[in-house]
Amino acid sequence: MDKQFIDLHLHTSFSDGIFTPEQVANAASEMNLSAISLTDHDTIEGCSHLAEHCKKKGIEFISGTELSVDIEGNEMHLLGYFLDINNQRLIEETTQYQQNRINRIIELVAQLNKMGVALQAEQVFNLAKCKAPGRPHLARALVKHGFCRSSNEAFSRFLRKGSPAWVPKTNANYRDAIELIHQAGGLAVMAHPGLNKIDNLIPNLVEAGLDGLECWHTRHPKSTTKRYREMATRLGILVTGGSDCHGAEQGHPAIGTKQVPYDILEKMKQKLPTTVSSLN
Ligand code: AMP
Ligand code: ZN
Ligand code: FE
Ligand code: FE
Repeated sequence: MDKQFIDLHLHTSFSDGIFTPEQVANAASEMNLSAISLTDHDTIEGCSHLAEHCKKKGIEFISGTELSVDIEGNEMHLLGYFLDINNQRLIEETTQYQQNRINRIIELVAQLNKMGVALQAEQVFNLAKCKAPGRPHLARALVKHGFCRSSNEAFSRFLRKGSPAWVPKTNANYRDAIELIHQAGGLAVMAHPGLNKIDNLIPNLVEAGLDGLECWHTRHPKSTTKRYREMATRLGILVTGGSDCHGAEQGHPAIGTKQVPYDILEKMKQKLPTTVSSLN
């Protein structure tokens, strides 16, 4: 049998992705993926939808999310896998994460207004049409309303960290977030560690119960993947990976391109506290 591949980091239009769950399932099917997970920012709302479309395509689906969390004053992203999407605490507490995003958009727009860019927060929310709006929606609104020619330009002129309109988001503490994922039956994994410069804080995360490191990622060169795989082995935690595909906005959809082997998922299942909560 051919080697089977998975993609455990994907976004849909339920957060800042371009694709609907149906389009993601179709793209995963075209890439012959055996299993995928949806990790929309700070929401699990798309999971039931993608689970349904995956079922039709014969693809195994793992419910997930990507929470924005604070660790010692740094923002990092924490992936949750095998979540019980009916977990009441998870549903309730993610609404606060979503509120943090809404507040941040309002603050970013206020900064833009001070700079003479007359965009309104409502225009961003109308475009986002989701509960977890983010900077990519703001970038698209800046393009739509004629303030920038492209999302890239919006990020480089206004929205990237360190640029004039940038403001931080208020984020939940990493310990609480890891506990929130665990009480919903899930595994907590540090997303794209290569994009954060906080390797020195990884022991704190492990001490708080972190289950794994995302080693394969579109923005991790091979040497970075290797370094984090070795680190995870040393720390005795899992390795995971995915494309972090947000759609085809910047060229081709990246879905499935990291060639993460299926046995990664088997190892994750072995670490689950109870029975596997895959929706298929
Ligand atoms: P937010 O969660 O609102 O801070 O937005 C973060 C998202 O913005 C990431 O998941 C990326 O999809 C996107 N992003 C971050 N930096 C850039 C950038 N320089 N250019 C384009 N997109 C970016
Ligand atoms: Zn994103
Ligand atoms: Fe991320
Ligand atoms: Fe992501």
